[in-house]
Amino acid sequence: MTLLTLENVTASYGTSQALFGMTLSIDQSEAVAMMGRNGMGKTTTVKTICRMLPAEGQIGFDGRDLTRLSSHQAARLGIGLVPEGRRCFRDLTVEENLLVAARPGHWDLARIFALFPRLGERKKQRASTLSGGEQQMLAIGRALMTNPRLLILDEATEGLAPLIRAEIWEAVARLKAETGLALLVIDKTLKELRQVADRAILITRGQVAWEGAMADLDAETSERYIGV
Ligand code: ATP
Repeated sequence: MTLLTLENVTASYGTSQALFGMTLSIDQSEAVAMMGRNGMGKTTTVKTICRMLPAEGQIGFDGRDLTRLSSHQAARLGIGLVPEGRRCFRDLTVEENLLVAARPGHWDLARIFALFPRLGERKKQRASTLSGGEQQMLAIGRALMTNPRLLILDEATEGLAPLIRAEIWEAVARLKAETGLALLVIDKTLKELRQVADRAILITRGQVAWEGAMADLDAETSERYIGV
């Protein structure tokens, strides 16, 4: 069943248009990778889905029209975002950061700590004392505590060391396997996305340039639209 649909969505920053008729969909339990070169509109697409930026066109989630909803309402419907730049409350502990995000459902502290054991070991530590990778795990944990039906990861491993990146991707793969949560994952490293995504959407200049099964994404196409 389809969970999220964007139909002919346009969005602008002032007079500068960033999305030019974005059309895509994500099914329940599907993991979709969104890729494209810098500035092509990946984060802007995420902002329109999360209702952080006004948009024209149709945005539907679970049969509801999202277009006129606020970001709070979108979150309440089950759209969980891990934004670029891993925002946590620096002066709160790991545990407090997770608890303030909590909404009733599947996820609780024990489940988050099972997914990210490092967070359990540091639950009484202030977020500001965590490493970059641990802060990213906390940001994912916070999004999960809202019990989303779609989890969006925007450049979740950017700037992190390879071992930490691997740990995060491994957790995301486990999340997918164990819970079947729908995922929209934005990243630049195709190799890692291949481990978690069923389908790829490549975007260029605010539009979908190519989409298909991850297995069908060949070197020529990825070179053309992602540059890898
Ligand atoms: P990156 O990989 O660099 O994050 P992206 O694909 O996520 O790139 P967007 O951030 O969505 O790209 O940017 C799409 C276009 O919108 C770019 O031309 C960018 O310069 C422009 N843009 C993004 N944010 C703003 C803003 N706050 N104000 C004005 N223009 C913006």
